[in-house]
Amino acid sequence: MMEPVDHRPSSKPSVTTDLARRRVVVVGLGRAGGAAVRFLSGRGAQVVATDRRRADDLADVLAGLPKGVTIELGEHRLATFVEADLVVTSPGVPPIRELNEAVRHGVPVMDEAELASRFIEGTLLGVTGTNGKSTTTVLLGKLIETLGRPLFVGGNLGSALCDCLETEAAGPNGVVVAELSSFQLQRTQQLHPKVALFLNLSQDHLDRHADMDEYVAAKKRIFANQNETDFAVLNADDPLCRAMANDLRAQVAWFSVESSVSPGGYLDGDVMRLVLPGQDEVRLDRSLLRIPGRHNVANALAALVAAGLLGVDLREVAAVLSVFTGLPHRMEHVGSFMGLDFYNDSKATNVGSAVGSLSGLEQQFVLIAGGRHKGGSYEALARVLANRARAVVLLGEAAPIMAEELAGTVPLHRAETMDEAVVLASSLAVPGEAVVLSPACSSYDMFVDYRARGQAFRDAVAAVQGRAGTDEYRRVP
Ligand code: ADP
Repeated sequence: MMEPVDHRPSSKPSVTTDLARRRVVVVGLGRAGGAAVRFLSGRGAQVVATDRRRADDLADVLAGLPKGVTIELGEHRLATFVEADLVVTSPGVPPIRELNEAVRHGVPVMDEAELASRFIEGTLLGVTGTNGKSTTTVLLGKLIETLGRPLFVGGNLGSALCDCLETEAAGPNGVVVAELSSFQLQRTQQLHPKVALFLNLSQDHLDRHADMDEYVAAKKRIFANQNETDFAVLNADDPLCRAMANDLRAQVAWFSVESSVSPGGYLDGDVMRLVLPGQDEVRLDRSLLRIPGRHNVANALAALVAAGLLGVDLREVAAVLSVFTGLPHRMEHVGSFMGLDFYNDSKATNVGSAVGSLSGLEQQFVLIAGGRHKGGSYEALARVLANRARAVVLLGEAAPIMAEELAGTVPLHRAETMDEAVVLASSLAVPGEAVVLSPACSSYDMFVDYRARGQAFRDAVAAVQGRAGTDEYRRVP
């Protein structure tokens, strides 16, 4: 584990109010880095864009960069960092030595989201938590759309926040709904959401955060600049979220799928009840939701509470809820044949998300799991499997660790490829059951990212479907 970056206040004056001719280093040329470079150049800064990757791996981003940007690839130059007026990081950049050195020399270091937030004049809504951020962010965006104000939805998902800065959404009448990851929040200083949603908290990214305390501290920064006129929307079913309410300045509204809460939104039988300050109670049928599982009811309640606080008329949102089918790779139903349902939940890159998704599933299932181990425990997964799974097919680097921790719960199998895993899982499942890819691990051992892994699953499912019913395909006993 590398040393964390020190965020003591810098001795230099803020450079973000006037960027013209300032020397700004952008570190990491992914989506966020590219957006920051374009914005900063547009404001007249002298930008150095740097990445440890080489030009061949960055062709797409490099092609989109404006003229006049200095590019340093392959390795970072320490002098570039310590001589800068400002360093802007992409969320994927770990706390490398050059960043610490920059801070030691009094150079402000901030995440791309922090930079963007300083130029957003309208209302900023922030969504964080371990799981459900993207689903909730997108649904919240759809609900806010009904206000008719200029809107931008992005951040950790979709377009980077700097991309909103030249749009009306960043203007005084606009609304920006931002998904914020712990990596982004870790390097924030002034970021100040009007409404901050904290969905849940379980172990994740322990490969990059020193420990759980550091991970929680990073995520809690979403509240750091809120005051009494702001709102925190918290999960009452999550003990760690409940405990957070004690040290917040913002007003708290709750959501729960387990008990009644006020102010906030909760599930009462099959009805979502929304009780917000100064508003009549609104009741919405759970059956309006097309996103599967109880975890998604929690996500929807969080989005509804936040939207209601921002002035969305919750009596008028049934149509919005009933057309929202969720996002790809999150319990995405990708096929039904041989009496089996196939779900692609490749985005379940940690144990909490796999547990959340699988607990929400109403069928028995065969699970395909594994990938790159992230450092947490699989105990919670073992508990879900013991009740509901017929078998587990393990893939990737984490397979031996998982096999050890899951031993004795349900029959465990090994596969070397996604194709093999899907063939095996579909032969083990019996009609009426589901085959679910919900890996509980990251994808980087075998795939470029979770999308590629989800696509490999879809392809493998299509291949089994093509062979199903032919002589070539036989059920393995
Ligand atoms: P994030 O952006 O936080 O990664 P997503 O909406 O992309 O969240 O969902 C990621 C994974 O987490 C998916 O596997 C999804 O099924 C699962 N998930 C979604 N919402 C929740 C929740 N509230 N609790 C637990 N798991 C969830």
